[in-house]
Amino acid sequence: MKKALFVTVLLLVSQQCFCWGFFGHRKINYLAVFLLPPEMIGFYKTHIDFLTEHSVDPDKRRYAIPEEGPRHYIDIDHYGEYPYKNLPHNYDSAVAKFSSDTVNAYGIVPWWVQTMLARLTNAFKEKNQVKILKLSAEIGHYLADAHVPLHASHNHNGQFTNQNGIHGFWESRVPELLAEKEFDFWIGKAEHIKNPGQFIWARVLESAAAADTVLRFEKELTQTTAADQKYSFENRNGVTIRTYSTSFTTGYNNKLNGMVERRMRQSIFAVASFWYTAWVNAGQPDLKKLSNKEFTAEELKEFEELNTNWRNGKIVGREHE
Ligand SMILES: [Zn+2]
Repeated sequence: MKKALFVTVLLLVSQQCFCWGFFGHRKINYLAVFLLPPEMIGFYKTHIDFLTEHSVDPDKRRYAIPEEGPRHYIDIDHYGEYPYKNLPHNYDSAVAKFSSDTVNAYGIVPWWVQTMLARLTNAFKEKNQVKILKLSAEIGHYLADAHVPLHASHNHNGQFTNQNGIHGFWESRVPELLAEKEFDFWIGKAEHIKNPGQFIWARVLESAAAADTVLRFEKELTQTTAADQKYSFENRNGVTIRTYSTSFTTGYNNKLNGMVERRMRQSIFAVASFWYTAWVNAGQPDLKKLSNKEFTAEELKEFEELNTNWRNGKIVGREHE
């Protein structure tokens, strides 16, 4: 009985680990605001709570619509060997070569980021505040996901190598334990990105190249760690959960030589730079003179539904933490 209960709790916990974890996504969007130029920072600071809170909407939407899942990852190793020359970087060419079903099944994050950039640019052109805020919050999510190595690997949760849980370990446990105390988030300024497609593919290829290290180092560390030292038990909201121990987590972070921090910093830079790029490409509208400032009752209801689905629900479509 005890064991059954324990397994249930573990399942519940693992279901709630997502891309960068909620902690990571919130932090990335929040910190990105401070990289913006003077013409933008006032507006973004005013709405920093919205941008932070809604950084995780895309993960919540995975409980509502099946098309959402593939926007968060690309199992690029499906397409052969690094640097995956076989896979066209142009979406239409990739679909022509591999079919729309295949391309969508194995994930579309590098293309989806570019779709979101086009939408955000249009929102700036329309001077539509509600759209600017929603799209800014959400593009931040997809950009950050593209920086996570295991979002560019079919073995995304170590499920093929007996390393279940590594996804949340890398992107949630490590930053939750160490980001506040040890990571340096002094990053500098947002930059205008001349070729966003090239930029995002470069980040995705870095992620893909690092996935092997992420998996191998965890395996090596497990082999040199006493079985009862790898995990520990923590109380969260009155529930005892099993998690990677502090010593195993810091050991892993040291072995990775700052990779999690580096990818988090690069995510923050990318988010701020895509916001800035959209604004510049839209002709630098005055953010003090925006229209459509209030969310409609329908939009507010949508936010509420996202929360309800997420709290009660199960991921629709393919799960890819
Ligand atoms: Zn995600």
